[in-house]
Amino acid sequence: MTRSTSIRRHLWPLLELATRVGCDPLLTQASTGNISIKLDGVLWIKASGKWLADATSDEILIPLDLGELHASIRQDRDPAEGHSNASIETAMHVTLPHPVVLHVHSVHTIAWAVRQDAAAQLETRLHGLRWQFIPYVASGLPLAREIEKSLSVRPNTDVLVLGNHGLVLGGKDCQATADLLADVERRLAIPARQAHPADYALLADLAADSPWALPDDDAIHVLATDPVSRNILEGGFLYPCQAMFSDGNSPELFHAAPDPAPDAADYAGRPFLIVKGCGVVLRPEITPAETAMLSGLAQVVQRIGPSAPVRYLTDDEVAAGSSTAAYRYRALANARASELQARCKVTTRQTG
Ligand SMILES: [Zn+2]
Repeated sequence: MTRSTSIRRHLWPLLELATRVGCDPLLTQASTGNISIKLDGVLWIKASGKWLADATSDEILIPLDLGELHASIRQDRDPAEGHSNASIETAMHVTLPHPVVLHVHSVHTIAWAVRQDAAAQLETRLHGLRWQFIPYVASGLPLAREIEKSLSVRPNTDVLVLGNHGLVLGGKDCQATADLLADVERRLAIPARQAHPADYALLADLAADSPWALPDDDAIHVLATDPVSRNILEGGFLYPCQAMFSDGNSPELFHAAPDPAPDAADYAGRPFLIVKGCGVVLRPEITPAETAMLSGLAQVVQRIGPSAPVRYLTDDEVAAGSSTAAYRYRALANARASELQARCKVTTRQTG
């Protein structure tokens, strides 16, 4: 067996797990989420901008020298900056000692992680697991430093809930990590609140006379049709991915247009429009990554209760996070949604 065949054999379970996780929109949206494995002094980690869903059909992993990565972090240099195609979360994967590390933007987890009382809510649900909550901190070296601190207090931690961000799991192998993911998802599951359906006749009228089009994902309309979701969105940004749009620093983008027959000229330049009580329309040029972000957002907000004390990102956190998030998504908004769906279907068939 050649060395590359042997490496491929070791990586295959990780690639299968990555594909499965990447094809579940409740776990990852577009290029979000990442995965890594430590093998013989090498960190194999998802390259920045690659989609987990592509793991078995594309080369999504890059090998990085673990010794060099540790040295970089010790010298306070973010290793992702030294390797232009390394995941922005490389420092986090290096800092966690587990052979396998998985990071997902699980909508169930995020619906808890955007609450001011997240730690207390999670305590009752994750009781018995070796978990910790890390309040929001920017991705990259700052997040890795917070994880380092948490591990110095409780080194055995293998579940991290990241405030206003997502979930990180560490395991001794892929099976253990997958089992842990299933357990955490089951414990944190929240049923989606039902909203009345979109007003398709009105949306069709709107699309007929304007540059807008209807989304393929009907679930996006909840951003407009569910009053509780609308209220939550009007309070501010829940997580940095919301700032991925070019003018993402303006939270008004997520405020519903009050007029059921809005004048397109009033909303020129917006990639999407939330029409209060009716539904959501999209610009044709909206990217698959942006649409996936909207779908994920709809899934999150309809799992946050009307009286939940929401912890929004501060203006400084939005400003610091938006440039990175926007760059990441724009760099990667190249695959068409239909192609992605086709890939996911094919992969599902192959892996059973
Ligand atoms: Zn993330």
